[in-house]
Amino acid sequence: MKVDVLVAGAGPVGLAMAVELERYGLHVRIVDKAAERTDKSKALVLWSRTLELLDRAGCSQALIDAGGKVSGVNIVDGSRQIAHLVLDRVITPHAYALMLPQSETERLLDEHLQVNGIQVERGVELTQFAASADQVVCTLRHAEGQEEQLEASWLIGCDGAHSTVRHQLGFEFIGDTLPSNWILADVHLGGLPWRGEIDIAWHSDGVLAIFPISQDRYRVIADVGDAGDDTSEPTLQEVQAILDQRGPGEIQASAPVWLARFRINERKVADYRAGRVFLAGDAAHIHSPAGGQGMNTGIQDACNLAWKLALVQRGICAAEPLLDSYSLERSAVGKQVLEATGRATAIGLMTGEIKQSIRNHVASLIFGLAPVRKKVAEVITELSIGYPHSPLNAESLHSPGSPAAGERAPIRPQEPPVGAGGTPLFALFAEANAAVSDFVARYPGVLEPNIRKPFHEGGLWLVRPDGYTALATTHDRWDDVGTYLRQIGCYSPTSE
Ligand SMILES: Cc1cc2nc3c(=O)[nH]c(=O)nc-3n(C[C@H](O)[C@H](O)[C@H](O)COP(=O)(O)OP(=O)(O)OC[C@H]3O[C@@H](n4cnc5c(N)ncnc54)[C@H](O)[C@@H]3O)c2cc1C
Repeated sequence: MKVDVLVAGAGPVGLAMAVELERYGLHVRIVDKAAERTDKSKALVLWSRTLELLDRAGCSQALIDAGGKVSGVNIVDGSRQIAHLVLDRVITPHAYALMLPQSETERLLDEHLQVNGIQVERGVELTQFAASADQVVCTLRHAEGQEEQLEASWLIGCDGAHSTVRHQLGFEFIGDTLPSNWILADVHLGGLPWRGEIDIAWHSDGVLAIFPISQDRYRVIADVGDAGDDTSEPTLQEVQAILDQRGPGEIQASAPVWLARFRINERKVADYRAGRVFLAGDAAHIHSPAGGQGMNTGIQDACNLAWKLALVQRGICAAEPLLDSYSLERSAVGKQVLEATGRATAIGLMTGEIKQSIRNHVASLIFGLAPVRKKVAEVITELSIGYPHSPLNAESLHSPGSPAAGERAPIRPQEPPVGAGGTPLFALFAEANAAVSDFVARYPGVLEPNIRKPFHEGGLWLVRPDGYTALATTHDRWDDVGTYLRQIGCYSPTSE
């Protein structure tokens, strides 16, 4: 039986993609070649923006209940504090970093899917596909060896860094593998009082980062120089030696849950779309795990694509330019994240006493400025992500202090997030009157029927189902909304 979408890969990105597509009523199958979900804690942090986006599907609360909240990031040089970033002052319903092992994030997303009637098909591998103008024929190999031909309107490759979909599209994974080697240890740390903050030490021998996972468990990450292709499991003694050398002292590592080595890959495809086939998550971009942005960026790819695909598949909007905007918007974000995590890693790995001393001095001056700390907090919580150059941005009359086209729209207390529920609807923020209400009523399936209060008196905003501003103008120009919707290929069934 033909499906709307085949999601290949049930890591966090494939699962989030299926959650979004299912709630918008699409017929989805999701397959994963692995027989079991990962038991590895890999991505530990869920940032504020990811939680805001998952709120729309009603997924965040279960994650929050299972995770631990972290409210700050410290950068130290020996005993001297270089920076202290607070995350609890960013303006969002989720003013913290949520620490939750990736295995738990996947379990909870998987359970959410099951409750909504979708079972991940494990032990089922996408081996090849043939895309034409109106469908994608996918070959699936089941665990018992039998092959299945599946017709799908769309294929989304969420199949990770070694993506079959990306390879078959022939897309180059452009970038580098960095020469430095890192160790990772999820351990108990005795002697470290719980502060609920991330600690990063810029030691002269290298970086040491300690992430709290729960009251009795921490993630330790440290670079260990260029050790070639060594993939052997690090020992607890090795971890302890680094903690003794670079840490605050008198910390005892024990009870390891996961010890691993990794190298940093910084790679990305140029295009996330080829006709009816899309890439998302690690299949499209991989970065330094040190920045903690990989999984978050991938989940946000899913939230960007799902509503567009749903509007197209439901026949409400034309495929172009909505679907083309996915690659343009998310590729720009992937590039920014790669550059930012690359820069942060390079700064942390700086060698040489004089260079390190200048770095520490300059960083402490810069982070001493409150506006810089605020900006950096908005960047790491991913609240500053936006699409300033998107083809989906209307020409706007922007007033300072309110969201411009391409920017995340503020989320106000007690107001349901835009894009929640079973239909991807745009929301109009404006002074309500009979003419505006009549206008909104002409766009069922496109515009929320209720008009929300404007962000400022005298203004009008159209906000996309993923919470980004599409159009900002003055209250008398609500007809611009109709022009805009026609331009992006969303027509009013009652007025054409
Ligand atoms: C040590 C470490 C720490 C990290 N820390 C963070 C962090 O703190 N924050 C953060 O945001 N990110 C972090 N990351 C990155 C994060 O783990 C990845 O970005 C994330 O797993 C990507 O999710 P994904 O769903 O795109 O891919 P994956 O998690 O790789 O999932 C891909 C899935 O596709 C399946 N698959 C592959 N090929 C096929 C096929 N042909 N057919 C069917 N199924 C297929 C695989 O079995 C797999 O289950 C870290 C990574 C590592 C290694």
